[in-house]
Amino acid sequence: MIIQKFGGTSVANAIAMRAVLSIVQRDISRRPIVVLSACSGATNDLIALVEYAAKGDRNSVQKSITAIRERHLALCRELIYASDRLTTVVESINVLCTELSVYCEGVALLGECTPRSIAYSSAMGELLSSTIFAAYAQSEGIPAVFADARKFMRTDDTFLGGVVDRSALRILAEEYVVKPLLDGGIIITQGFIGSDSIGRTTTLGRGGSDYSAALLGAAIHAEEIQIWTDVSGIASTDPRRIASAFTIPFMSFAEARELAYYGAKVLHPETILPAVEMGITVKVLNTFAPENEGTTILPHNDKNGTGFRGITMKEHCLHLTLAVGPNESASVINQSLHVLEQHGYPIYALLSSEGNCIVLTTGNDEHVRDLLEVSGVRVQIQPCDMLCVVGPNVRSLSEAQLQSNVALCQAALSQGILSVMFGHSPVGIIIITSLGEGKEMLTILHKVLHTLTFPS
Ligand code: ADP
Ligand code: ASP
Ligand code: MG
Repeated sequence: MIIQKFGGTSVANAIAMRAVLSIVQRDISRRPIVVLSACSGATNDLIALVEYAAKGDRNSVQKSITAIRERHLALCRELIYASDRLTTVVESINVLCTELSVYCEGVALLGECTPRSIAYSSAMGELLSSTIFAAYAQSEGIPAVFADARKFMRTDDTFLGGVVDRSALRILAEEYVVKPLLDGGIIITQGFIGSDSIGRTTTLGRGGSDYSAALLGAAIHAEEIQIWTDVSGIASTDPRRIASAFTIPFMSFAEARELAYYGAKVLHPETILPAVEMGITVKVLNTFAPENEGTTILPHNDKNGTGFRGITMKEHCLHLTLAVGPNESASVINQSLHVLEQHGYPIYALLSSEGNCIVLTTGNDEHVRDLLEVSGVRVQIQPCDMLCVVGPNVRSLSEAQLQSNVALCQAALSQGILSVMFGHSPVGIIIITSLGEGKEMLTILHKVLHTLTFPS
């Protein structure tokens, strides 16, 4: 059994869905379980829709539902030729869109946009794409079985970031996934969505389909989890930013997680965890170039390796310098860190000394200032960009390089680096630049990385 997860761009249109089907067919003997995202852009449209409804803007709701319906119906017509099958799937799409329309009327009457209604609306994206893909696969002679993930992806009632009950998932996946698979079916299901114990629709959070794939893979002991996207694996940096980015053929779980945490959008960070625990191989592959090897994520670090695996950048971060006020004790620093965490501000890196602390986070600077001043620290906030260089032994390598003043250091210093910090894991170093300088720094550092060897 393998999990094949396809992201939004892989199901965005008929050409992409055809590419997906040929990948599924190629691996059919490995018993694929196909986990699909919504067509790209659909989740955003569905969230906007429910927001219009809450404002009572029925005009925009109807326009938007018509556009969503038309987009999906056009896909059906392009993919499915047999008229009886086409009629059936068109009916299913119409039923989903009508349900959505009725639901939005309810939201309009209540006049409020709750997490529950956003979850309900956004889940429609995955339901629509998977309904179409299952019908298309069947029309091409594949024994596709549609499985509604809400039957097995049991979560708590945090509607927009449901915590999955993994023991319930193991039991339910046996019934709704493994059994039909062993009966000879190819499972087509949704990423991102689940339901709570009383059947209300929940989601695992934006970008959550990768997480769904990993959780399901772990629950059924899949032999491999394949994350199919629009790039050939995890690259040395975001290929949309730097065209010369190159695929890293192998990297450890820790490195992939570090890259994801610090902004490589290609993987949802939590994807890694369930797979790590089970020692399952995760591959990141390109739907539009399936012959490419992509990236294989290995369970362990390459202890002997040196060099870099990649570099990420997040713009608009906040570099906070906290100091203990005149009549305060040093514990106010701990309290203020706690306050930041409680309010959902990530602590990307931390450097502390007696009575002082530097924290790297992201969010609204005014809100951060208000929160911290109440907790009694003096705070200086500098907007910044943050880069993270990832690789095995990267810290010792960077130290040596910083000391001997070689390329990495020169590149960094010439761009007005604010500080170099360590994050939570030993495989990354964080470089902070003034706001707006991150891009330039990324370009320079990526060029430098090109000249270093990448052990596998
Ligand atoms: P999907 O819709 O398949 O889930 P995403 O848009 O979530 O795809 O993730 C794929 C995108 O991640 C790529 O198109 C790429 O622009 C971006 N990305 C960011 N950093 C990296 C990286 N280091 N390697 C590869 N892709 C990256
Ligand atoms: N469709 C969802 C989103 O756009 C989940 C995903 O694609 O992973 O966030
Ligand atoms: Mg994604």
